Order: sequence, then structure tokens, then C-alpha cells
Amino acid sequence: MRPFHYNGHPARVIFGSGTISQLPDEVARLGLERVLVLATPPQEAEANRIAALLGNASAGVFAGAVMHTPVTVTEQALAVVAEKGADGVVAIGGGSTTGLGKAIALRTDLPQIVVPTTYAGSEMTPILGETKDNTKTTQSSPKVLPEVVIYDVDLTMTLPAGLSGTSGINAIAHAVEALYAREANPIIDLMALEAIGAIHRALPRIAKDPADREARSDALYGAWLCGMCLGAVGMSLHHKLCHTLGGTFDLPHAETHTAVLPHALAYNAPAIPSVIERLRGTLGADPASALFDLAGAVGAERALRGLGMPEEGIDIATERAFANPYWNPRPLERDAVRALIARAYAGERPAHT
Ligand code: NAD
Repeated sequence: MRPFHYNGHPARVIFGSGTISQLPDEVARLGLERVLVLATPPQEAEANRIAALLGNASAGVFAGAVMHTPVTVTEQALAVVAEKGADGVVAIGGGSTTGLGKAIALRTDLPQIVVPTTYAGSEMTPILGETKDNTKTTQSSPKVLPEVVIYDVDLTMTLPAGLSGTSGINAIAHAVEALYAREANPIIDLMALEAIGAIHRALPRIAKDPADREARSDALYGAWLCGMCLGAVGMSLHHKLCHTLGGTFDLPHAETHTAVLPHALAYNAPAIPSVIERLRGTLGADPASALFDLAGAVGAERALRGLGMPEEGIDIATERAFANPYWNPRPLERDAVRALIARAYAGERPAHT
């Protein structure tokens, strides 16, 4: 018998193609009359289309979302919320826009509808990372969980091939770490393995043909499940390292996850033999190597130095991996952690698992 705790997060999920047309009904269902549409600057045109679709139920657009949810941007958006008298937010975009919606909800309790257009998975988690004075802090609160999530595969078709690959591997990282989380449980295992398989099959097809709608749909479905994994259980060494590397050297989020994941998994492999066996069944090969090859197949940069990390960062990141102790299936061993960061820095093939 395997006793466990499972915490499900309430959220209404709508999945399909053309589902954005259901947004006005969802806004009405929540009893909202003036929602502010959020986006990043490059997705402003998409946000304007959504505002037009909402007609009188739109309070306008705030297209100032940026990566890592700076509090200064949240304050600007809050001023617009107040000025327009918005009674809810619609976030269209990736984790950066979702983060802004969550930051607004944390401070105002306004309902959120999220329309994800990457595979980051933030829409399924009660987690919010915010940046203030160059420091990123993360908190977990049910207040930031969106009320409704609308997955519309059509809105992911424009995600550039390169970012589709790294964003998909970022999602896989949530599911991989969920399999060996301290709170791992059979429900999350089901989602994790299903998601890893779906994304692993989809990404090479998207790399070959970004217009492959079936592959896009598989990737988005997998990303949803990966977000559920991230929201339900704690993460370990891989996420800790990526958080540190991204924050310390200003490295891009999904790309950093892509470069680190095979090495973090190889590090933990000796402590998680049954997880490695199940991953082997899903990936069809040695898991760390399969993820390294997947990154190659989608044309991703596999070396952290290629993302802009300086060589002295290997020692800095090693030190920081030991700050604020956290759970990891394999105890942290300084030389081995340094070796894994050094391999990721150089983009070498991971140690065999
Ligand atoms: P992102 O949201 O920054 O998007 C990257 C770029 O792609 C942006 O310029 C965006 O406008 C553009 N883009 C997004 N979708 C597009 C589309 N369909 N077509 C064309 N362009 C598109 O990147 P991300 O990787 O989705 O999110 C990263 C952020 O999310 C980080 O700050 C990370 O910390 C956070 N995050 C948080 C959680 C959580 O649970 N709190 C989970 C995952 C990620």
C-alpha cells in the first residue's frame, strides 16, 4: 500500500480549438462586467482582439507584463485597474502575463481568467514569483489561483518553434520533478507520465512543422497536466538550480530549464530507480539522455554558457544550491552538484542514468 495526500486545486478548464470564443460567456458566468485584459508588449495586438471580442465587458488593455513579475509593473497595472474600475482580469500569454494577473489577484482578490499561449503551466499553480529590488521571492497562496483557464490551441500556433521547444521542456521539468517529489502520489504520477509522453512526442513534430495543429494540441494538453503537477507537489534540485541561475545571471527561463534538466535528473537518478524505470518506459531510452536528445531535436541551446552564464557562475550557483535547505531525493553533495552544473554549463551529454 502507498498512503498519500492529494490536494486538488479548483479551476474550470476549457480545452480545444477556437475556445477563445467562449470567453464572453465565461466572463458573464463569473458575473463580471468590466475586465482588464493583460498581455506582454509583443502580444498587445492579441489582447486588443480579445478586448474587442468582449465588447462592453472589456475595461481595456494593459500590455506591460514582463518576465519575473516586477512589483513596479504590478503597481502600474493596479493603478489602471483602479482607474478603469475593473472587476476582473483576463491574462493572455505565457507565464509572465499569468504572473501579473496573479499579482493583481493577490492584492485585490479580483477573479482571473487565464488564456495560456506557452507551455509554462503557471495558470495551474497557486505559486507567484515576484521581483523587487533585483530579488525574486516566491510565495504560495490560494488567492492567486485563476478561476477559469481557457486553453485554445489556435493561440499557440504563433509561438516560435524555438520557444515552443524550450517551453515544452520547461513543462516536462515540472512533471519529472513531480515524480520524485516528497509529496509524490499516484494521481500526480499518472498526470506526469501522460504529460511527459505527450510533450515528448509533440515537440519534434512542432520543430519540423510549427503549423502541425495536432502536435500543438498534444503539447498544450501535456503542458496543462505539467502545470497541475507543479501546482500539486513540491519541486527539488532542478527547479532550485534554475531559479538561482535565472535570478543570478538573468538567464531566460525556459531555455535554462532545458539546459539543466538532463543533468539534474542524472544527479538524482541513483536515488530514484523506480522513477527512472517508469521514465524509461515513457521516453523509450535512458531518461536523461532522451531529454538531452529532445533538446537537440528542437534546436535548443544545451549549454548554459551559450545562454550567457559566466564560467565563475559554476561556483556561485553551487554555493547557492546549498542555501535555504530544501528536499531533494538524493542528498546534496557539493562535488557532484558542482559537476552537474559544470556539465550543463558546457552543454555536455549527461551522465548515464
Ligand atoms: P513569457 O510569458 O515571458 O513569454 C515569452 C515571450 O513569448 C513573451 O515575449 C511573450 O509575449 C511571447 N509569447 C507567448 N506566447 C506567444 C505566442 N503564442 N505567440 C507568440 N509569442 C508568444 O515566458 P514563459 O516561459 O511562458 O513564462 C516565464 C515566466 O513565468 C517566468 O517569470 C517564470 O518564473 C514564470 N513561471 C511561473 C510559474 C508559476 O507557477 N508561478 C510557472 C512557470 C513559469
